[in-house]
Amino acid sequence: MEQKEIAFTWPTFSLTYRADTGEVATFYDQWRVSRTLPDETDDFHGAALGLSAKEHKVVHELAHHLLALHHGLDSSPIIWCAAHCYDMPDGADDEERGVRALVYAAFGTPREEDEPCYASFKSAGVSLDSMVAELRLLHAAACITGTTRPRLQLK
Ligand SMILES: [Zn+2]
Repeated sequence: MEQKEIAFTWPTFSLTYRADTGEVATFYDQWRVSRTLPDETDDFHGAALGLSAKEHKVVHELAHHLLALHHGLDSSPIIWCAAHCYDMPDGADDEERGVRALVYAAFGTPREEDEPCYASFKSAGVSLDSMVAELRLLHAAACITGTTRPRLQLK
């Protein structure tokens, strides 16, 4: 049977992507879940990057977590707050800008407006190249969902 879902597992959460609906969910435990579906923002940025809206949705959500992990956090503060029904955390706008900058670096051409984010990564000792490489790998894994049965364990 065709596999329609891939799960990426980290120590404190897992992220699932459904290839049929494009739903991306981050699970902290059985009851703490943040679910999201592709929307017009994913259409817009996906089109600019040569990605489908579903692909953009999953790389955007993955980028939230990668950015956090590379900054020494357990997971994305925004997604954690969404899953636990809290208001958006301080720094949410910066996190969104950083996510966008990472996604454009990985799948498009870095934009001038993203330069402050790249400078901020550098001053924090965070490697943009490493995040880009990981995000491209996870994107490739998500893309083969539907034809294979991948299951990745990430530590
Ligand atoms: Zn976001």
